Amino acid sequence: MLGLMQNQPLLISSLIDFAEHHHGDTEIVSRRVEGDIHRYTYREVAQRSRQVANALAGMKLAFGDRVATLAWNGYRHLELYFGVSGSGLVLHTINPRLHPEQIAWIANHAEDQVLCFDMSFLPIIQAVHSKCTTVKHWIALCDADKLPKDSGIPGLQSYEAWIGKASDVFNWPEFDENTASSMCYTSGTTGNPKAALYSHRSTILHAYAAALPDVMCLSARDSVLPVVPMFHVNAWGIPYSAALTGCKLVFPGPALDGKSIYELLESERVTYAAGVPTIWQMLLGHMKPAGLRFSTLKRTVIGGSACPPAMITAFNDEYGVEVLHAWGMTEMSPLGTLCTLKNKHLSLPAEEQMKIRLKQGRAIFGVDMKIVDHDGKRLPHDGKAYGDLLVRGPWILREYFKGEGGDPLVKDNNGLGWFPTGDVATIDPDGYMQITDRSKDVIKSGGEWISSIDVENIAVAHPAIAMAACIGVRHPKWDERPIVVVVKKPGAEVSREELLQFYEGKTAKWQIPDDVVFVDAIPLGATGKMLKTKLREVLQDYKLPNT
Ligand code: AMP
Repeated sequence: MLGLMQNQPLLISSLIDFAEHHHGDTEIVSRRVEGDIHRYTYREVAQRSRQVANALAGMKLAFGDRVATLAWNGYRHLELYFGVSGSGLVLHTINPRLHPEQIAWIANHAEDQVLCFDMSFLPIIQAVHSKCTTVKHWIALCDADKLPKDSGIPGLQSYEAWIGKASDVFNWPEFDENTASSMCYTSGTTGNPKAALYSHRSTILHAYAAALPDVMCLSARDSVLPVVPMFHVNAWGIPYSAALTGCKLVFPGPALDGKSIYELLESERVTYAAGVPTIWQMLLGHMKPAGLRFSTLKRTVIGGSACPPAMITAFNDEYGVEVLHAWGMTEMSPLGTLCTLKNKHLSLPAEEQMKIRLKQGRAIFGVDMKIVDHDGKRLPHDGKAYGDLLVRGPWILREYFKGEGGDPLVKDNNGLGWFPTGDVATIDPDGYMQITDRSKDVIKSGGEWISSIDVENIAVAHPAIAMAACIGVRHPKWDERPIVVVVKKPGAEVSREELLQFYEGKTAKWQIPDDVVFVDAIPLGATGKMLKTKLREVLQDYKLPNT
């Protein structure tokens, strides 16, 4: 017997409808590529998203065609989020930090029909447009008078002229909630990038989950600044959860330096911000020397790579801002776990609470996870056993776009498919998961595993160290030994011996790195994460001392 409740498909268009009707006067503030601040409301987002839908309808695209963006976090990008997906087309957000050749490869692989880009990326488009063989329409996200006359890009239109001609009356179509809504290519550190193809259903379920109190805890009282880019995993789903809760959105545009972010946090009375650790490093680096304080920021979600304990402590103890450590991946829409305390932890001493906060957190309802050994045998959730982390759930990838890479899932004894995250982790009896490492970054020394994250966390706790990356180097006896590659804070000094001394008593002796390599910068990937593959290439001639 089926239930007798109404069966409305979960569609992204309903989010912006809801925001328009219930939070119509809530502000969306954007720092534009032009440098000025733009502000309007959900009511106008909804109207202009419908204009986008009408303008797209005029292009005679087929249901499910891909419309690409190469854009910063901003209001026009938000309108495309709703206008494109709401029409039954697929929003393909491209990471502009990728190499132009890779951008062209991705656009061709996705078979993008339309490409909308911020003017900061005009040079990239000029370089690659002739290679993007499927793109028929080029839209520059700017006013008509900002459009360059001789761009060399055939048929280039300004976004404002394009949607300006379109009506803001549009009835969002109703279709199967499993229809594809947006796509994002993985960083692709090895081989060609592969795309995760999200659906309306997966996006709405993720948006509900992300807003929960023990996840991002978003509400109509929040002013939210996503530093996480809208070109990578939909800014962790914040634009959708924002429309669902009616929180104010503050978009930083291209200005991601500490000073610009700090100014926006203060001027827009931001209560909640989200980003990868490298961004917060820059923010704290700007605030500390100038003795600046936050007047409204209460919580910040940090994820994408391991958040160093020193950063959690700095936010918490020095600025009174709660850090929520989060873990996820492109293939997971992206949220998998978030770290918040349980009631029983509230009476624990601060240092005990800190041990919990350092973990990547508890699974969100909808995400099932387990750790397994090399034979696929389930490992206990005792906080000690570590193994490959597998996940399943309604917003987790089943297969890559176009079936690239074959069937990625690992089947269990009941025939259920689990997605292998490529991370190595422990899970404690309370369900808190802690990433030990990426499976390819873990250092195998004399049959034991050393967590590169642990080694890095100790280095960045040293007052002179700004950034640290630990990699394994071949060793004749131990197979591999860890070294730590560090960037010093401007004007700070520390010697190799002092830093190695700093490890004493903080970790087992055999886990202390064998050497310290000082560098000016650590290569970062397109999503702001340390690129250890590149670092290994740079250090390929490096030899351990005394070997
Ligand atoms: P991406 O799909 O590019 O967002 O990368 C996902 C990967 O980033 C995960 O599989 C992890 O290896 C890593 N990652 C994300 N969040 C965290 C975190 N909080 N701590 C450690 N690693 C993380």
